[in-house]
Amino acid sequence: MSNNCAISNNTNVDLDFDRKHIWHPYTSTVSPLTCYPVESAQGVEIVLEDGRKLVDGMSSWWSTIHGYNHPALNQAAKNQIDKMSHVMFGGITHKPAVDLCQKLLSIAPSSLNHVFLSDSGSVAVEVSLKMALQYWHSKGEKRSKFLALRNGYHGDTFAAMSVTDPDNSMHSLYKGFLPQHVFSQAPSIGFYQQWDESCLDDIKHQVASHHTDIAAIILEPIVQGAGGMRIYHPNYLKGVRALCDQYGLLLIADEIATGLGRTGKMFACEHAEIEPDILCIGKAITGGYVTLAATLTTSHVANTVCEGEAGCFMHGPTFMGNPLACSIANASLDLLATGEWIQQVRNIESYFAKTLPSLTKYERVKEVRWLGAIGVVEARTPVNMETIQKAFVDAGVWIRPFGKLIYIMPPYIIDTHSLDKLIEAIRLTLDRSDCFQS
Ligand SMILES: *Cc1c(COP(=O)(O)O)cnc(C)c1O
Repeated sequence: MSNNCAISNNTNVDLDFDRKHIWHPYTSTVSPLTCYPVESAQGVEIVLEDGRKLVDGMSSWWSTIHGYNHPALNQAAKNQIDKMSHVMFGGITHKPAVDLCQKLLSIAPSSLNHVFLSDSGSVAVEVSLKMALQYWHSKGEKRSKFLALRNGYHGDTFAAMSVTDPDNSMHSLYKGFLPQHVFSQAPSIGFYQQWDESCLDDIKHQVASHHTDIAAIILEPIVQGAGGMRIYHPNYLKGVRALCDQYGLLLIADEIATGLGRTGKMFACEHAEIEPDILCIGKAITGGYVTLAATLTTSHVANTVCEGEAGCFMHGPTFMGNPLACSIANASLDLLATGEWIQQVRNIESYFAKTLPSLTKYERVKEVRWLGAIGVVEARTPVNMETIQKAFVDAGVWIRPFGKLIYIMPPYIIDTHSLDKLIEAIRLTLDRSDCFQS
């Protein structure tokens, strides 16, 4: 615990209070990890209170795609806040929300026609699951199961957690409270590997045995994020779409991490040239400024839901369609609309292709993989979080590994010099045994 004080001399932040009273993501109140006080952020850099600048390899968890403190996003926020920050969405509409939904539908797969706005990724997933359940209820069928994938991650709220990998999300802790769903093996063939149809055997088998109970299959297209950073073959996704069609199941694509350009396509589904029945978008939608998410669906699903007993979709968050968030999201989507991201993400991808393979010479490295602006180094043993985090900060970068995974998904605007810093920092830690558990 004493290392918490190592950086507390130069800061106005009451780190002692933070450590004693504030929960951070996935941390302990009993033995909290060090937290680094941040003063500001600009472009691809996070500025610590003590003045050190760190190249951000995380895009603040997939969200800050255009970089921090972006003039266009700042301006959008300022313009909107002088009109109204929020107004309820029940019985009221406004230009920021209408503009945003038009933009989302124009970039989304063409079969999607209806947008449900919500507050965060987990809520967008809850909404998608409720839509699927209400869809089958309207059709007079009792279906209460979802099929999800091992190593999948869909959020931390209860329904989202129930379709997240049972081991990673500690289902055993919530036994009796979490609904039991059907899990299929994670796709075993990588994006660039030779395709083999047997990769679909397990999910085919699961669907064949459970399809009369299953409302929908939910998955993260092409890249499984927080559940293992696995990048899989597009033919797997094609095969799952075909299975859904064969059995009349809905397909929910959770593109909260992969959507909006991260994998090199606007949506990862495009790698497989398929369209989902329901699509979840979040994380990067406001360029990392404020929380907002969306669930998109087809007219067929929306209308079936609303022709049922309830006569409507039973959901309506207080901050639905928040004008401030929508305005910033509009500015973020306008930046994407310039198309500059395509070359930026391509450049990051070729940088990873050039640099990551050289890291496999470290005995500590089990595998490296990449796609678009996502780079992953999988170690043989879990990292030592406290030590490796400090090593990264000392090397001038912000990278936050979990378990055996050191992964980076930088802002699209990052240049080669800053990418070099990220890779060099990773190389440095791979040389240090104290950064890893044995
Ligand atoms: C982050 C994430 C979520 C949850 O989003 P929150 O905004 O953290 O609630 C859901 N699904 C995927 C694929 C994610 O990466």
